[in-house]
Amino acid sequence: MAGVPPGWQDLAVSRTPQPRRGKDVPEQLGFDLMPERLFVCTPSKLSSYADCPRRYRHTYLDRPAPQKGPAWAHNSLGASVHTALRNWWDVPVERRNSAALPRLLKATWVREGYRDDEQERAVYERALGWLEAYTAELDPELDLLGVERTVAAKTAVLALSGRADRIDARNGEAVIVDYKTGRTGLDADDARGSLAMALYAFAAERVFRRPCRTVELHHLPTGTVAAHQHTPESIARHVKRAEDTAGDIVAAEKALADGTPPDEAFPVRPSSLCSWCDFRRVCPAGADAPVKETWAAVETATV
Ligand code: SF4
Repeated sequence: MAGVPPGWQDLAVSRTPQPRRGKDVPEQLGFDLMPERLFVCTPSKLSSYADCPRRYRHTYLDRPAPQKGPAWAHNSLGASVHTALRNWWDVPVERRNSAALPRLLKATWVREGYRDDEQERAVYERALGWLEAYTAELDPELDLLGVERTVAAKTAVLALSGRADRIDARNGEAVIVDYKTGRTGLDADDARGSLAMALYAFAAERVFRRPCRTVELHHLPTGTVAAHQHTPESIARHVKRAEDTAGDIVAAEKALADGTPPDEAFPVRPSSLCSWCDFRRVCPAGADAPVKETWAAVETATV
């Protein structure tokens, strides 16, 4: 069973409905070797579990899900900028320039989470400046394979899908581009270690039937690009990591189904992320984390 993480075979088989063996079905057809059900996931689903199993449970399993805290301004900012950039590529090429940006950003601006109108206005101006500087360096006729494009692929155990911010066509290859709007700059280690971008590359190579090894983080606040050139081996390591995480999730879900208390099957994993967690109010570990205002991450963002 190539590609199946050690120790997962039994769990995976237990999730598979047992085949019916009628008298017309010879044993040697090997129904026990029928493909197992694949674990359907996105990179963010896997990362959610890796960051904190309890947060994963609240997000993906608990129904009804616990009520989330209020919206974060940095999420509003990120969504606004991403959508404006996506729509910029839909503007006819002769008008695809900085003059189009104020209208695009206004149209997609998400208002939630800011301290007040004054802060929101200042962040809007800052975001517009990022976009103007970024698009000034962009070829409006860039050869694109996709913008906010969903790519999907299967492994022996995963049915992966995810939406890449942009996929460029360069020199016969596909290049994954991910926009970032956070405060801190990024370097090549961030690009190398990004599970999401490696999985996008894995899927894009199959979808577009061309090599996809280069992944780039475009940090809009600083106008910098952190790039990494993957090898087939480094992509395979990320895929293995994803499969291992999926194996852990399946094991935890099975434990839950078998009666293990939810807080044991999906334990807390306290970290600096707790202050920003949507579920900190319903989590004992979250109660100990320093409280952050919903606008804290945009207050001193790099201009
Ligand atoms: S507050 Fe921290 S420990 Fe609790 S669910 Fe969120 S990330 Fe996990």
